[in-house]
Amino acid sequence: MTIERTLAIIKPDAFENHHVGEIIQCIEKSGLTLAGMKMLRLTASQVERFYYVHNDKYFFPLLCEMMLSGPVVVMLIEGESAISRWRQMIGPTDPAECGPETIRGAFGESIRHNAVHGSDCPDSAAFETAFFFSESELV
Ligand code: UDP
Ligand code: MG
Repeated sequence: MTIERTLAIIKPDAFENHHVGEIIQCIEKSGLTLAGMKMLRLTASQVERFYYVHNDKYFFPLLCEMMLSGPVVVMLIEGESAISRWRQMIGPTDPAECGPETIRGAFGESIRHNAVHGSDCPDSAAFETAFFFSESELV
């Protein structure tokens, strides 16, 4: 039994398309637990620091533009193997490669506008959860 914490973000495209409720419902139905949640408009500095691993990629400017295009909902999800379970639930980066049972398959529009974020490993989960939540903000 490894209880993990991971970071989820409902991205601006899913917010704009009114999928916030359905995505939260997927999390609740999965047996994972919501331990923190906030709705934000990210700043350019936050996006650039959050996605620093991609700052040399060709898609970085457009990724930043997408994340700044509207509100996001950031959530800390907790549970048994939460990191890999959440990644499995969201599906691959490109919705075209996702099954319909995945969140990106159901709600993503393109490889960039792919509805949600999920931490990809324990190190990034630690960095990303601390990026948005202090211990006192978790329930
Ligand atoms: N992205 C993009 N173009 C690409 C690859 C990725 O715009 O060719 C965006 C997309 O929103 C993705 C994010 O950059 O979710 C981070 O990319 P990563 O490779 O980390 O994918 P993820 O871990 O989100 O599946
Ligand atoms: Mg990633």
